Order: sequence, then C-alpha cells, then structure tokens
Amino acid sequence: MKEETKIIQNILSDPLTGAISTPIYQTSTYVQEAPGINKGFDYTRTNNPTRRTLEKFITKLEYGYDSIAFSSGLASIDAILKLLKYKDEILAVNDIYGGTFRLLNLYKKLGINTQYIDMTNTKNILHHISNKTKLIWIETPTNPTLKISDIKEICKISNKLNPNILIIVDNTFASPVIQNPINLGADIVIHSATKYLAGHSDVLAGLIVVKEKELYEELKYIQNATGGVLSPIDSWLTIRGIQTLYLRVKKQSENANKIAFFLNDKKNSSVVDKVYYPGLSIHKNHLVALKQQRYFGGIVSFSLINDTIESAKKVVTSTKLFKLAESLGGTKSLICHPATMTHKSTPSKIRKKSGIQDSLIRLSIGIEDVEDLINDLNNSFLL
Ligand SMILES: *Cc1c(COP(=O)(O)O)cnc(C)c1O
Repeated sequence: MKEETKIIQNILSDPLTGAISTPIYQTSTYVQEAPGINKGFDYTRTNNPTRRTLEKFITKLEYGYDSIAFSSGLASIDAILKLLKYKDEILAVNDIYGGTFRLLNLYKKLGINTQYIDMTNTKNILHHISNKTKLIWIETPTNPTLKISDIKEICKISNKLNPNILIIVDNTFASPVIQNPINLGADIVIHSATKYLAGHSDVLAGLIVVKEKELYEELKYIQNATGGVLSPIDSWLTIRGIQTLYLRVKKQSENANKIAFFLNDKKNSSVVDKVYYPGLSIHKNHLVALKQQRYFGGIVSFSLINDTIESAKKVVTSTKLFKLAESLGGTKSLICHPATMTHKSTPSKIRKKSGIQDSLIRLSIGIEDVEDLINDLNNSFLL
C-alpha cells in the first residue's frame, strides 16, 4: 500500500458497534464483571478506547511496536526524560525547540545534563559521546532555520560506539508523511501532534512511538504513574486531523517550495538576504534532505537585507493572508518573528549564534492558493 492509502486504511472502526468514526469514550471508569475481570479497560488514566485507537493509528504510520498519547508534546518529552537517572547525559541538537530546552534546564537540578551540539555535521557527535551519554536528541528539520541532520548516519555512528544509547527523533516538523525515523534506526519518535498531525490549530497533543516492547512498557509505566494522558475528545480530534495529513503536508510542501523559490529571487531586488528551505540547492544539507525526506516540508524562513527588528516587524504586521501567530502546521498560513516571539527568552548573543538574526521571519505555509500567498508577501515588501 502507498502512504496515502495506508493512512486512511489504518484507522480502526469501533469493534463494539462498527461505527466508522471512532466514538468518543468520555468515561473515567469501566464496569467490571468481577474484581479484575474487565474488557481490557479499568481506568482512563491507564487506558481509554478512543486514545487506544489513536495510539494504534500512529504506531502504523511511524512503523513502531506501540505508541502512547499524551496531553501535549512536552508531556511526552518529559516522560522520555524520566527514563534517565542522576548523572546520565544527553546529547541534543543545538537549535532544539525552545520548550524542550526549558524542560532540559529543569532536569539539570536532578543531575541530568545536556550538551548541545551541531549535528548537521554527523562526525561532531564522535567528539561528544562519552560513557555517560544515555540519550541522543535529534530534531530535523529544526526550528526556525531548517537545519537538516542525517538520522541514519547518526544512528550508525552511535550504535557502533554504544548500542545502549537511546536515539530520539522529534519528528514534529516533518510528520510521518515526510520521514519515518524508526526505519532509519531511531528508538523513539515523538510528535507534538498539536502541529501537523492534528493540523487545524485546535488541539494540544503529544505522541510517543516506540520501536521495542521493553522500552514501550517502561514508558507506559511512567505515563500511568504521572498521568499526562490525552483526553478522549482530544484523541478524537487528533484522529480526525490525521485523516487529511497526507493531503495537507503534500500541498503545504508544494506551496512552501514555490514560496522559497520566490523569496530566493527576491534577493536580486535587495529585499531578502538569506532563505532557509531544505528544498533549495543552496541549503547546506539539501542532499541529505533529498535522501531522507519524501517532501521538503511546509516551513520556510528568511531574513532581510535591512537586518533590524523594526524592518521585520513591518513585514509581519503588513501581510493580510499570513496571520501573525506562534505555532505551525495548521491549515492557515502563519507568519512569526522569532527574535521577539518564539525565541524572545533566548539571549540575543546565543540567538544570533544559532542563525536567528534580528530580521529572521518564519512562515508556516497553509493550504491556500500559492499565488495568493506570494502576492500577499510581495505586497508586504512594497509597503
Ligand atoms: C511545539 C513543539 C513541541 C512541544 O509541543 P506542545 O504540544 O506545544 O507541548 C516540541 N517539539 C517541537 C519541534 C515543537 O514544534
């Protein structure tokens, strides 16, 4: 089966009633026949039929052993960090998602430290892996400068040095339509399903997909012990969203590709300075993206020749179709100014070092007509 057929065919209908749309089992507990004798469900923190349908669905899409659904992307990341113990170390991509950075900071006081490194050059990890390294945290493409790391190569090097190191890929920016990290050697894939998977900017959700049984059971234990579960209604919304994932990501990627080429041309008219998009041949790891991804994705970033916060603010407040907002992956196109929005708490020196210039603008491309989107951007440059 092709990916788009698989997505649709992998949603299970309700085994009890045959309902083709998964029912929302809005219940906290379940009637038992005798103590301990039940239909596989006893309490919704532990298990819920609607959540279970979502978990089975994403397991298929990411080629895992099993999955666990959480109340947010960060709740799922937190569960993974609870696998670690005092003095364990983490190697993470240096422009990791801001919320994950904040969470890793919190774990410092428990004696769990993180080294942030540039993984776009795979060999860098050789210089940083030690016998304390327990976990490698990859994001590719990254936010907001769309850096690409070679998942397969990183897994190969890490497994050779120490097969016990867990490799986690935050696949939020790509979605399973674009890449499947478990097939490339990762142990765990996580998603902020808040973004592309749910896809309509109406729900917060996190998913963990695990390659092997033992690790799945450890994480399931952690979730049941801590309780950050996804509610039945939000599970349902996420299932509903994923049904159109393929259509959306394909259209968003096609739109983004055209917009990246348009912006790249704008370099000639002294407006745009740098364009960040894995689909452009000038992108540092374009060839890795070509090998690793089915599409180049729906996020494009660019900076202005007049590299000031003011000039960026002028652009982001004059678009009409692109709405000024944080987050990404929804059906509507969004525009965002990282220096004063998503990355405002990052010190300016560190921010600039990771390539986030004052004028950097991030676009999350929606499913609108691409000509309209290009005209909207063009008009904002003329103002
Ligand atoms: C949004 C996001 C998260 C956090 O997810 P929430 O659902 O907001 O908790 C984690 N990683 C990446 C890459 C994200 O974009």
